[in-house]
Amino acid sequence: MLIENKCAYCDGEGLDPFGILSTLSKCQVCSGRGKIKVFEPVFECAFCEGTGKYPGQRITCTTCGGKGFVTVKEPSIECAYCEGTGQHYGQDWLPCSVCGGKGRVTVSESREICKDCGGTGKARINSTLPCVTCGGKGVTRVARK
Ligand SMILES: [Zn+2]
Ligand SMILES: [Zn+2]
Ligand SMILES: [Zn+2]
Ligand SMILES: [Zn+2]
Repeated sequence: MLIENKCAYCDGEGLDPFGILSTLSKCQVCSGRGKIKVFEPVFECAFCEGTGKYPGQRITCTTCGGKGFVTVKEPSIECAYCEGTGQHYGQDWLPCSVCGGKGRVTVSESREICKDCGGTGKARINSTLPCVTCGGKGVTRVARK
C-alpha cells in the first residue's frame, strides 16, 4: 500500500528549507506539494531521525531521499550492527552499511541469533566491521527441516 505523509524535508511547507537558490524555491523532495508518498510498511528514517535532512549538512538525507520515512519489508528487525541508529559504527555522519541508514533490516521468518557474533552484528576480531557470518544483521537464516 502506498500511503501519503507530510514531507519531512520542508515540514509540509513545500519550500526549500534552506532557500539555497531563493527563499521561494520549491522543495525538491515533494516538488512543492508538501506531501510525499511511501510504500508500506513505513518506518521513520533512522539516519536523519525523520527530519529528511542529511545530518550536519544542507542536503537531503541519502537514506530516505528527504521524505523522512523509509520502507522496510516484513519481517524486519532492528539492525544489530548500528543498534537501530542508522549510523555507521564508529563513524559520524555516514549511513550504516548494513541497513543503509534505515535502522531496520529485512530478515528470514525462520532465523536464529548469529553464533559467530552472538547477535551484535559486529565482527569478533575487528568490531568496527560487520560480522561476515550474518552480514551485520545479528541473525542467520535457519534452513527448514
Ligand atoms: Zn517538501
Ligand atoms: Zn532520512
Ligand atoms: Zn544499521
Ligand atoms: Zn553475526
